[in-house]
Amino acid sequence: MRVAVIGGGAAGFFAALSVKEHHPDATVTLYEKSSKVLSKVRISGGGRCNVTHHCREIRKLAKHYPRGEVFLRKAFTSFAVDDTIAWFKERGVELKTEPDGRMFPITDDSESIAGALLNAASAADIRIDLGSGVTAIQRGPGPEGIVLTVNGQEIRVDRVIVTTGGHPQPTGYAWLAALGHTIVRPVPSLFTFNIPGDPIRELMGVALPARVRVAGTKLESMGPVLITHWGLSGPGVLRLSAWGARELNATDYRFTAQVNWVQGRSEDEVRNVFVEQAAVMDRKLAQNADPLGLPKRFWNHQLAKAGIQLDKPWGQVVKKERNRLIDFLTNDRFQIQGKTTFKEEFVTAGGVALEEVDPHTMHSQKFPGLYFAGEVLDIDGITGGFNFQAAWTTGHIAGRLEG
Ligand SMILES: Cc1cc2nc3c(=O)[nH]c(=O)nc-3n(C[C@H](O)[C@H](O)[C@H](O)COP(=O)(O)OP(=O)(O)OC[C@H]3O[C@@H](n4cnc5c(N)ncnc54)[C@H](O)[C@@H]3O)c2cc1C
Repeated sequence: MRVAVIGGGAAGFFAALSVKEHHPDATVTLYEKSSKVLSKVRISGGGRCNVTHHCREIRKLAKHYPRGEVFLRKAFTSFAVDDTIAWFKERGVELKTEPDGRMFPITDDSESIAGALLNAASAADIRIDLGSGVTAIQRGPGPEGIVLTVNGQEIRVDRVIVTTGGHPQPTGYAWLAALGHTIVRPVPSLFTFNIPGDPIRELMGVALPARVRVAGTKLESMGPVLITHWGLSGPGVLRLSAWGARELNATDYRFTAQVNWVQGRSEDEVRNVFVEQAAVMDRKLAQNADPLGLPKRFWNHQLAKAGIQLDKPWGQVVKKERNRLIDFLTNDRFQIQGKTTFKEEFVTAGGVALEEVDPHTMHSQKFPGLYFAGEVLDIDGITGGFNFQAAWTTGHIAGRLEG
């Protein structure tokens, strides 16, 4: 059996290795259009590669995918986080878990992951053809045969696994649409919000647990928000960008973000804290009166925004000023104008529609002998190792060549 794997990324390597594990006699060729394989693995997670996330419960794990939850819930029953950990361990790579659940190689070096995949491919006799872009897949003359066009040359194979990753333009999927597959329009996911001109950017580096909402929508997320020199970032913002990838794309990334900087506490709750702490606060200057334990630079910034002088005794701060401050703490509004790519991890939402792929086998329901895995599918996760986990899972399943 001749098997072609198209795309030398995480999913492609896992798929090719799984083919050899389940069909040792198969001849496997991995076609990679660029001059090197595993580029994203190498740069991932800031060069550390966030391989997966320490989440062992399948239902819970699947909830981290804005696109693909139901599909992956089925796929994870055959290969999930424990299998990833074991797979790498068997190949000499130990993973460690950070306090937020993200898992990295203990070396903190993505080369450990790339190296393990390359060594395994070499040991399994997988042929890697670099500079080999596939532009077409067609049915072959025989009943089972498939013909690939690789750099303009026709190559006959028996099975094909497509692992070409995401593409920002719909045209990047035209050759798959030609096979009868529906392509869900690609849009970016995992980005940060730009707020040009807003003085909050002076607080760059300050991070707070916050709730972020997109005005006029149901989009909401809770999590750390990091103020940067261009706007808002951090897991809370990235999560919102993932869940809102389509809605925010439709606004052309111009919308109002409402930030509650006090972990979602209501105006009344904050007012009550001010009342309860009044005796202590009244003895202090406004700049020293924070009863909420916020970073000092941030508290001072919000005081100034509310028109309260930093050296004014808190007892002299009038009700109108306090109300303004409470408003800026619980419902701070920012005009978002544009997005910035999050360098540590970004993905494409959209791709091959999941209704046309069997989640138990990754087999195409449109083209016999064709399988898909990885980001080429309409699957994407929030940041934290979930995107690679989807690539490992779908790659491993596709390589069984079932269905
Ligand atoms: C900067 C960055 C950091 C990231 N960090 C993390 C992280 O730490 N943790 C995490 O979980 N996720 C991370 N991600 C997301 C993760 O890298 C992807 O979800 C994952 O790489 C998808 O794997 P894939 O194999 O499906 O696609 P890819 O890794 O994109 O691989 C696809 C391959 O196919 C090749 N190809 C494309 N078309 C053709 C063709 N027609 N013929 C032949 N070859 C072709 C491409 O050149 C590429 O090598 C990161 C992404 C980026 C961009």
